[in-house]
Amino acid sequence: MFSVQNYNSEQIYSTLSSIFGFHSFRPHQEEIVRAILEGQDIFAVMPTGGGKSLCYQLPARLLDGVCVVVSPLISLMKDQVDAARINGLYAATLNSTITAEERNAVGVALRQNRLDLLYISPERFNSEHFIERLKTLRISFFAIDEAHCISEWGHDFRPDYLALSKIVHEFPKVPVTAFTATATQRVANDIVARLNLRNPHLTRASFNRPNLFYRVIMKQEFDVQLRSFLAGHNGESGIIYRNSRKKVEATAEMLRAYGISARPYHAGMSDADRHAAQEAFSRDECPIIVATIAFGMGIDKSNVRFVIHADLPKNIEGYYQETGRAGRDGEPAECLLFFGRQDIAQQLHFVDEIEEEHAREIAKEQLRQMVRFAEQNNCRRISLLKYFGETFPVQNCNSCDVCVDSEEQEETTIPAQKVLSAIYRTKESFGAIHLADILVGANTEKIRQFGHDRLPTYGVGKDKSKNYWRAVIDALIAQKIVVIDDPLRPVLKLTETAWSILRGQKTFMMRKPPERNLTETRTNRVSDAKIPFYDLKPFSKPLFAKLRELRTELARAENVPPYIVFSDRTLHEIARYFPRNAKELQQIHGVGQHKFAAYGQRFLEVINKFCEQNPDELKLQQNHQPVKPNIETSTQSSQSTLSSSFLETYRLLHQGKTIDEIVTERQLTRGTIISHLEKLGESGAELSVDQFFVPERLAQIKKWFRASGESLFLKPAVEASEGKLDFEEARLARIFLRKEIKK
Ligand code: ADP
Ligand code: MG
Repeated sequence: MFSVQNYNSEQIYSTLSSIFGFHSFRPHQEEIVRAILEGQDIFAVMPTGGGKSLCYQLPARLLDGVCVVVSPLISLMKDQVDAARINGLYAATLNSTITAEERNAVGVALRQNRLDLLYISPERFNSEHFIERLKTLRISFFAIDEAHCISEWGHDFRPDYLALSKIVHEFPKVPVTAFTATATQRVANDIVARLNLRNPHLTRASFNRPNLFYRVIMKQEFDVQLRSFLAGHNGESGIIYRNSRKKVEATAEMLRAYGISARPYHAGMSDADRHAAQEAFSRDECPIIVATIAFGMGIDKSNVRFVIHADLPKNIEGYYQETGRAGRDGEPAECLLFFGRQDIAQQLHFVDEIEEEHAREIAKEQLRQMVRFAEQNNCRRISLLKYFGETFPVQNCNSCDVCVDSEEQEETTIPAQKVLSAIYRTKESFGAIHLADILVGANTEKIRQFGHDRLPTYGVGKDKSKNYWRAVIDALIAQKIVVIDDPLRPVLKLTETAWSILRGQKTFMMRKPPERNLTETRTNRVSDAKIPFYDLKPFSKPLFAKLRELRTELARAENVPPYIVFSDRTLHEIARYFPRNAKELQQIHGVGQHKFAAYGQRFLEVINKFCEQNPDELKLQQNHQPVKPNIETSTQSSQSTLSSSFLETYRLLHQGKTIDEIVTERQLTRGTIISHLEKLGESGAELSVDQFFVPERLAQIKKWFRASGESLFLKPAVEASEGKLDFEEARLARIFLRKEIKK
């Protein structure tokens, strides 16, 4: 008898739901899990929050032996180990923070082959002694997290990571897998080369984060705007980035003065203070952290509901990484950028201080891209993804300010004419701030110096605020009616369209600009913003609050961050579907066996008590939709989105396209296309072997598979071929060999 597969779908899916409490995979997870189970090396690029940990944790549970995870920050390992343990995985760490007693216990567990996961830091591989010790263990595979730290081209280079190059040499039989969220090709190539990965399965997930809403707003009276936003996000966790220590302190101070709990975080604080701030944030004891970008890597907190950039970021890459820290749990979250033109000069000042010319030019160009992103009027998501070389398939993402707000436009032709005429009268040589000053009739040094108080346009916009005029100017720029040659030296010039508007031949439309009272206009819309792409029934806020309380209590008792007990998504679902018994609760996202056993009863008590005390709330919910659509239908729907991708591959094959052509056309990796073919094969789709193999080749490959005994394991076949067969071709051939066996 042939054993067709090491692990079947049944085992994989039941582990997914019993250990992790999830009912479907996120994109690419399944393909990576399967490749690991086959014993392949892996190189996977997935965005922050994409779910990389599960890719190695799930096979670590299924495979015999321990998975050795390399992770860069000791401070994080504890959280990672706690999170794994709470799911019922056997995880431990060996690092300087643990006691001698713990160390012994880990040693015993390792010798008895009881651990699924062992987390260690990279510098361990500098120790011969440690490597020799590892060699005495049964290791299922290595998982290298944050693998970009090995590349000098990346922004987080850590010399300690270089020691990892040894792994393949020292452990030639053990697969090595590497994970990162860093996008550039150069870094990717570097990682594969430095780790000496052997013909790795390559995965590059889309960088799109569908649950994040992007918004850019004009920075006017920042403190007021910020408080107004926060008023709509009471109690939610969020990060506010500022670009200097002083501003971090000032903003945290200002919020505290208004009774909003917030803590600062920056490199000028003592280690102990920084650590305390991070802990308080992580454990929901303080919802808001105001930080410089020193606060970042490895913030695994999954329930960050908003990330605010209060100052202009230096470049899009950094901005995107930082916004990525919002909504890791997949629940809606907001990314808000405050854009003020006055910030450009400040950033430019930093850039000018870079001594090396080439580096300075690069920094300048990156800043330009950032400014263009902020001032444009195109879908934010499309431009962000384009930056990472991805095309977003639809025109309107429906979850950024540009896409959502564009309907509420109103005619603003006369104000536009006033602005354009001011530009004309000042000979197209000034920027937005000065022009707004002229329109409101301000008495500034610069106005007196140029005699602009004698212009006919001086003061024609007195009835409106400066902010109003800046908004009109921003809209004119965004719609490319006036142009700026260099975003870093913002001098406004008129276009043909501008002249048509001036002559009254064309009208001008824009979103309603702010009048005087900030809190009544645009700023308020920020906090009210619904996230429209999430067409879900709302959850009960009062029940959610109760659930959160219980979560905090349980987390405190176990000394772990609350999001590790249950994610926000889990609590939202409970407060949306009101599960009343064990069976219903276990249907909720994130409720695995282990967590159910540990916390299920306590949560059911709270839910049931709440329902008794709040019959109205319950009725209200039931009017919307009484129960969670059951798991069957929800997996089906996720499969149907998946299958649409397979079907697209299938369709192209039917047109006679080769795998390479499909790879190019769909911008997916070969590995992904082959995994589509595997799925198609499993589901019994008609695939014609002639399209892929000449008969002799297939016969040869069959022999290699035979050499490994009567199984269809990939690795022995690839090894038997002595370099003539790679994993991808082996997988492809196996699809047809399986069919033969079935017959
Ligand atoms: P990354 O390391 O890629 O940034 P994580 O591994 O920390 O991401 O996962 C981010 C969040 O996504 C975690 O809260 C995790 O529990 C959740 N997650 C991972 N896989 C799934 C899945 N298949 N379904 C639902 N949630 C998932
Ligand atoms: Mg991670």
